[in-house]
Amino acid sequence: MEETNLKKTEEKSLNFIEEIIEQDLKSGKHKSILTRFPPEPNGYLHIGHAKSICLNFGLAKKYGGKTNLRFDDTNPTKEDVEYVDSIKQDIQWLGFKWAVERYASDYFQQLYDWAEELIKKGLAYVDDQTLEEIRAGRGTVQTPGTNSPYRERSVEENLKLFREMKDGKYKEGEKVLRAKIDMSSTNMLFRDPIMYRINYTPHHRTGTKWCIYPMYDYAHGESDSIEGITHSICTLEFDVHRPLYDWFIENLGIFPSRQYEFARLNLTYTVMSKRKLLELVKNNYVNGWDDPRMPTICGIRRRGYTPESIKMFAEKVGVAKRDNIIDLSLLEWCVREDLNARSNRYMAVLDPIELQLEGWEDGKVEYLEAPLNPAFPDGPKRKIPFSGHIYIERSDFMENPPKKYFRLQPDGEVRLKYGYIIKCKEIIKDNEGNVTKIICTYDPSSKPGAGPWRSVKGTIHWADVQSAKKIEVRLVDRLFTEQFMDQIPEDKDYKDFLNPHSMDITYAYAEPALLEDNSGIAVQFERTGYFVMDSDTKQPPQNGEIAAVFNRTVTLKDTFKIK
Ligand code: ATP
Ligand code: MG
Repeated sequence: MEETNLKKTEEKSLNFIEEIIEQDLKSGKHKSILTRFPPEPNGYLHIGHAKSICLNFGLAKKYGGKTNLRFDDTNPTKEDVEYVDSIKQDIQWLGFKWAVERYASDYFQQLYDWAEELIKKGLAYVDDQTLEEIRAGRGTVQTPGTNSPYRERSVEENLKLFREMKDGKYKEGEKVLRAKIDMSSTNMLFRDPIMYRINYTPHHRTGTKWCIYPMYDYAHGESDSIEGITHSICTLEFDVHRPLYDWFIENLGIFPSRQYEFARLNLTYTVMSKRKLLELVKNNYVNGWDDPRMPTICGIRRRGYTPESIKMFAEKVGVAKRDNIIDLSLLEWCVREDLNARSNRYMAVLDPIELQLEGWEDGKVEYLEAPLNPAFPDGPKRKIPFSGHIYIERSDFMENPPKKYFRLQPDGEVRLKYGYIIKCKEIIKDNEGNVTKIICTYDPSSKPGAGPWRSVKGTIHWADVQSAKKIEVRLVDRLFTEQFMDQIPEDKDYKDFLNPHSMDITYAYAEPALLEDNSGIAVQFERTGYFVMDSDTKQPPQNGEIAAVFNRTVTLKDTFKIK
């Protein structure tokens, strides 16, 4: 009895889209489901897109359906193959497989034919007004619009003009095709929306074949319908577009795809509009789309996030019907969870201070052993050379410590991780009083495995002076200082809130095994955080003293309390 109750509370309740899908499958409305992910190839994908990808592909997977990848390439001015390639790479990296790869441009002929059909039905007309005139004629939310003087053109005239538009007889902006719906509708989008406009920019796939391009509202639902998409999922701001989506499908009598809206993902300390991300890249506020500070998928990948952590995040965010802002620390929590379970451990000292053991035989090197992952104590091991002369973290020593400080202090003992217990004997300072070196004694019998285990309160990490590799460490942090980037004052620009410490660079000494790690994911620098080797690391290692470059994925400290 208790067991079934427990199971019930553990079972996750369905989100509203899952409820709809289950109903549609149960009622026989659809035998199987087909979703799509429809990016416009005008920029790189960001974490918000990742949410949409996880949702679309996740739903299809859960219900045994499929997902199409469809590029919404109806605006040649802003689109490029560079973006197409990066989008495909990012989806694959997340671990999803699309059923077919399609382009809205695959459907240009069909969309055109349907537009003629709507003209013939008296449901579309060519308008000669300028865009400004059209905008003015649309009225406002309070006042109805006024009909265009060209609204009552005959079917024949409309067909002739539309064909001439297609054949390149008119200049950009000279004519548009509009749906003929209702200029006084309470839904502004119903006030004769534009279906086609003229654009002579060559298209990245169709070249100069077309000079008229369908607008989003006309192309999107029709493309869904052509593919037989059952559940077309998009973000909330499209809810006012839904009646128009349905209007075109109904008036053409084609496959009834249906649109459902969910809340877009917003994150604290982040901007996600492609326009802003592009501006950051173009004006060198960041080093490209894959800068590890960017919220792009390629950026967070370079930062060391795993596909698993992003999927976990998407799952935890859930599917909401109302807009909200998610705490960035939830994303950090997810990657920490994933890496904690899987990543290899190494020691690296980021802010070094020298420490010498007294009584250690000159030139003697011991090899201490440590598991690559403490979760698997019997799993693979690494060997750490130890020569009695090491670096420790400056913050792991205090001359005048407060109570409860269990790290190194005068006359105090600590254990060197995987090694000996040492005792602070002498502090050497420079003229300004800064500690430059610490002399310690050590307890030979405290070596792990050498005798009975002796406990001391503090354990600190270290790096062996002789064998440590010097690495560059990029302390990646939040790109912006402001939590709610959508609420910044009107007289300010979002760029005023760039975090000057979003990527401080420092150097660290790391145990040599770090550079032989081949796990393919970020590693943990023990007691510090998770770090991943950056593509700026030259292979073989750069000449000179720097062996590699690492990005900090996330610190170990958790600022997020999950309920
Ligand atoms: P942007 O406004 O940043 O330019 P977009 O919505 O124009 O983004 P598209 O390429 O059209 O970008 O988006 C592809 C899909 O991803 C759409 O279905 C869109 O609704 C969804 N999407 C975009 N941004 C988010 C987000 N922040 N959260 C969830 N889904 C998103
Ligand atoms: Mg869009």
